[in-house]
Amino acid sequence: MIILDGKAYAAELRAELKEKIDKLERKPGLAVIIVGEDPASRVYVRNKIKACEALGIRSYAYELPYDSTQKDVEDLLDSLGDNKDVDGVLLQLPLPKHLDSESAAKHIPVEKDVDGFSAQNLGLLMQHKENVVACTPAGVMKILEKAGIELTGKHAVVLGRSETVGKPMAMLLLNANATVTICHSKTRNLKEICRSADILVSAVGKVKFVTEDMVKDGAVVIDVGINRDENGKLCGDVDFEGVKDKTSYITPVPGGVGPMTVTMLMYNTYLSVCKE
Ligand code: NAP
Repeated sequence: MIILDGKAYAAELRAELKEKIDKLERKPGLAVIIVGEDPASRVYVRNKIKACEALGIRSYAYELPYDSTQKDVEDLLDSLGDNKDVDGVLLQLPLPKHLDSESAAKHIPVEKDVDGFSAQNLGLLMQHKENVVACTPAGVMKILEKAGIELTGKHAVVLGRSETVGKPMAMLLLNANATVTICHSKTRNLKEICRSADILVSAVGKVKFVTEDMVKDGAVVIDVGINRDENGKLCGDVDFEGVKDKTSYITPVPGGVGPMTVTMLMYNTYLSVCKE
């Protein structure tokens, strides 16, 4: 069993990226917008800003109060769309419940969509003409690539079908010639399906959701989940201790997919300047 070290892969990628950014005459600029006080979101935003600083990406943080209106958020996004210093715009989710994130996201111009969530970027992924790809699934693909894991003809099972993780993840695996099954909360025979997976990617958001009896001997297990266990400790969806010895490769949480997600955001921001 090999533990896939997302932190080490991310460090390698960031070093490569820094070299590329150092060579750019005009450094990329990323605007990050956060609305409200959600503590987890604040940590994510801080990490993104820190990653920008380390790579020479200019960053602009916009902190809006919890009681901001839809118009406040959309006006800011419109102004960033017109701002020539800003190449990428990231709206940190989730937004407070009274706000409509789908409507707000439409105010981010496609060329500044560093999250890859726009209909155009998702459509291109669907057509196997990947442009900017959602950071977490893109990070998973980089981990698989760096570890030299062959995907062609393999059965990949993706747990979760969110627009931001599960669906783009499944599409990337399909584009890489895996045979893909997507599971969700209405799936029947979930354990059986998981047990037939050569590659099992879990993006459900539930502690110890993937247990030893759901994993085939020698499977590759990628844990996208970020949860807190009963002691408040950070953990994924996979019962890591129970599952690890059955796998050929497994990602830990923390230190697996998470560091790659931020790195892919930096990569997408770099790309937004290269396309000018
Ligand atoms: P989400 O939007 O809540 O989606 C969860 C998915 O899990 C849904 O498709 C849901 O099915 C499915 N699901 C729920 N219960 C299930 C069950 N009993 N059996 C099978 N499927 C079930 O979450 P998300 O945004 O995709 O995120 C998933 C996890 O990844 C979370 O823990 C999140 O924090 C984490 N995450 C990590 C990173 C990272 O950088 N590592 C980035 C993003 C997200 P339905 O569609 O039927 O409801």
